[in-house]
Amino acid sequence: MRTAVFPGSFDPFTLGHADIVERALRIFDRVVVAVGYNIDKPERADSASRRAAHIASLYAGNPAVEASAYSGLTVEFARSVGASCIVRGVRESVDFEYERRMADLNGEISDIDTILLPARPGLGFLSSSAVRELAHHGFDVSRFLPPSNT
Ligand code: ADP
Repeated sequence: MRTAVFPGSFDPFTLGHADIVERALRIFDRVVVAVGYNIDKPERADSASRRAAHIASLYAGNPAVEASAYSGLTVEFARSVGASCIVRGVRESVDFEYERRMADLNGEISDIDTILLPARPGLGFLSSSAVRELAHHGFDVSRFLPPSNT
């Protein structure tokens, strides 16, 4: 059983994130979406848990996808769920530079490798911060979010 961890903030979880999960499932048997929060800001733990529960509910029909909140090192969380790889999405070249640095660092401190998937054409413009910004101004952002019953 090959497991990948897909870490991020997911604030909110968008169609771009859902696309990465879907494509990661072609490579891995199990994908754990990991909603990170900073242990120094414990008030964030609640919202991270809520976001993880929401993501889990989106995949309630698919046992290959799990979601969980975590704090601390991503490689340690990955190890704790039996993952061999971290999956991340890359939208533009600045993403790549950052992701490569994180992948190098994580490779240096663990045996967890990183797989970078390019954003699907047509979804590269989509970011959680843009969705938050639009929603803040009253724009209906539902077209950018996976359909949900919750
Ligand atoms: P972080 O704060 O760790 O970047 P995000 O929730 O913003 O967390 O993103 C999590 C991961 O999803 C990152 O690897 C990011 O590059 C990727 N991602 C975000 N939006 C998209 C998108 N539209 N297409 C592909 N990957 C995306």
